[in-house]
Amino acid sequence: MHDSPPSAHSAISVPCSQCIPPSVQRFSIGYNRRMELIVTKFGGTALANPKRIKHVARRLVDYHSQGKQVLAVVSAMGKTTDELLGLAQQITPRPPARELDILLATGEMISMSLLAMAIETLGTRALSMTGHQAGIVTNTRHNKAQISHIKTERIKAALEEQNIVIVAGFQGTTRTGELTTLGRGGSDTSAVALAAALGARRCEIYTDVDGVYSADPRVVPRAQKLDTISYEEMLELAAAGSGVLQVRSVEFARNFAVELHCKNAFSNNPGTVIKEAGVERAIVSGIAYDDSEAKITVRGVPDALGIAATVFEAIAKANINIDMIVQNISENGHTDISFTSPAGELDRLRPVLDAQVKQLGAREYLVEESITKLSLVGAGMRTNPGVAAKMFKVLSQNGINIEMISTSAIRISVVIAAEKSQIAQRALHTAFDLDASEVFEEKLLSPEEQAAKAAKGR
Ligand code: ADP
Ligand code: ASP
Ligand code: MG
Repeated sequence: MHDSPPSAHSAISVPCSQCIPPSVQRFSIGYNRRMELIVTKFGGTALANPKRIKHVARRLVDYHSQGKQVLAVVSAMGKTTDELLGLAQQITPRPPARELDILLATGEMISMSLLAMAIETLGTRALSMTGHQAGIVTNTRHNKAQISHIKTERIKAALEEQNIVIVAGFQGTTRTGELTTLGRGGSDTSAVALAAALGARRCEIYTDVDGVYSADPRVVPRAQKLDTISYEEMLELAAAGSGVLQVRSVEFARNFAVELHCKNAFSNNPGTVIKEAGVERAIVSGIAYDDSEAKITVRGVPDALGIAATVFEAIAKANINIDMIVQNISENGHTDISFTSPAGELDRLRPVLDAQVKQLGAREYLVEESITKLSLVGAGMRTNPGVAAKMFKVLSQNGINIEMISTSAIRISVVIAAEKSQIAQRALHTAFDLDASEVFEEKLLSPEEQAAKAAKGR
């Protein structure tokens, strides 16, 4: 692989997907193709066993036989990524990030090669590629790398030669050839980035439910499948924990005007289209939850100027993210500061807080791991006051205590006890008139697969 900067016809350059000017966006549309290109992505459940892989192969061959160029990005089969993480944990509780990336990247390589074999047996040419072979270049942040550009020559050549191209999602390489992965759910981002780089106007994300719902249908059975949702709302839902799409994939889609079609891999239902907002603005479009954070309260902190800055500077230096923050009013010159952080970072956070408590003369710090962050998202919140009041009232009517609150222009989030998460989501879903007439029915996942989904991200 060479390190030359991307050329306008072969690559996208993505310095920061949140701040890409329109001039750069045009950059990605540069591939003169005679045939329509379909970019698809298949999630782990869709590829969980040989039978399902053969089913996906059939779908791709059907597209190909309609005269289309076909690219499929794949996730690892079923729970493979979790199992690989489990193996690493059995060797050491803190595996080196570089080695973990090499281990995790093998998951997607299994599914890509099996899918290519399944396609070949149907009599159509297929070529699988690792992230490196597909030209996906990332920054150097192991385990959470970001795609910086894609060198698309090899993919284009393979497509021109009538191959169905299968690319391992979730992985890339740095400029110096180190293997990286893109964070959990990263295959979504691989797919959308490839769609953008190849100038495809849409990207089809095939998963194990019918599309994006007004809530996780496995938690709120009356969740309704949305026909469309704006990039902006989808971004907020994804950032608030709705695992159906990785946040960065939605950022790419918005910044490069790629329409996302989120569909069920095992039905022909129309799914959900994620695109630029129309005129209609629902007050609340959806509910998301995030079980992956912990709440930390530093108690008895001297209430002096610059204390909060000192605490959060130390945490930032350790490269640990902070989400919500609340500082209580002070009593007798002392105050409590609470914040949330990823529970997975607690091992690294504790020594930082031990040192801070000592240095600042604070009393102690407490950690609560069984919390959930619930978020209501809707573009109509901008112009409709009273959503927060209604949310808080519904929670109180259900005996649910709110521990923290944060808002954006189109989102209200609260932290509550984890055991109340399901009741709260269902009550809010009903109160905001989101309930569908039908109840979600599980048709695809075995009970074991459902349990694995429920545990994901914790
Ligand atoms: P894949 O392996 O296909 O990438 P994921 O598990 O990453 O699948 O994402 C799909 C899952 O996301 C669904 O099975 C569902 O339980 C969960 N989910 C959470 N929130 C939503 C939502 N708002 N709409 C649809 N699915 C959701
Ligand atoms: N296999 C990876 C994961 O489980 C990437 C993905 O599925 O998108 O997170
Ligand atoms: Mg996913």
